[in-house]
Amino acid sequence: MVMWRDLNGSKCEFSISQVWEYLRPRAAHVPWYSVIWFSHCILRHAFVLWLLMGERLKTHDRLKAWEIHHGTIIVCPLCNLVRDTQDHLFFSCPFASQVWTLVLQHIDFPISSHAWKDFAWLLSPFAKRNIARFVIIKLLFAASVYFIWQERNRRIFKKGNRSPAQVYEVIYATVRLKLMSFKWKSSASALRLKSDWKVS
Ligand SMILES: [Zn+2]
Repeated sequence: MVMWRDLNGSKCEFSISQVWEYLRPRAAHVPWYSVIWFSHCILRHAFVLWLLMGERLKTHDRLKAWEIHHGTIIVCPLCNLVRDTQDHLFFSCPFASQVWTLVLQHIDFPISSHAWKDFAWLLSPFAKRNIARFVIIKLLFAASVYFIWQERNRRIFKKGNRSPAQVYEVIYATVRLKLMSFKWKSSASALRLKSDWKVS
């Protein structure tokens, strides 16, 4: 029998999953983990949101050295006004702000359209509650970040421009499609949400 000595020095039966648990890199738990990762999340949306919360998206502010070398300043492709940083692109950009304003009409949670950077933190205490209201908010949040990021990239790679209303429509349609696959409860609040989202 193959044995393994764990971090405490105790011998135990070898299993790959146990060894991985011992060896894998660990970081501090973040309170907004459940805002991003949950059973109904859309993985590609969650991944982009995860990168954003970790400030790891490749925005243009990471290309300052390139700018200095070429003597030019790269601006936000959505508004063409200021540098494309994560804070600007997702929260203070006039284009993004218009998208958030449209999305907010579906969000039953006290948040201003100018405080999205703090949204994951504010939602964290409620994020583990597996009820439709919070699942919808989390889906909308991640979808909004994903499609704003997608629109920024579409413009950089010349794949056409969409208006804030068109980006909102894609967000709405994507979340609604996800809601159609839900197993809904028969509570009054669930029935109201189904009606609001026109999900049968
Ligand atoms: Zn902008």
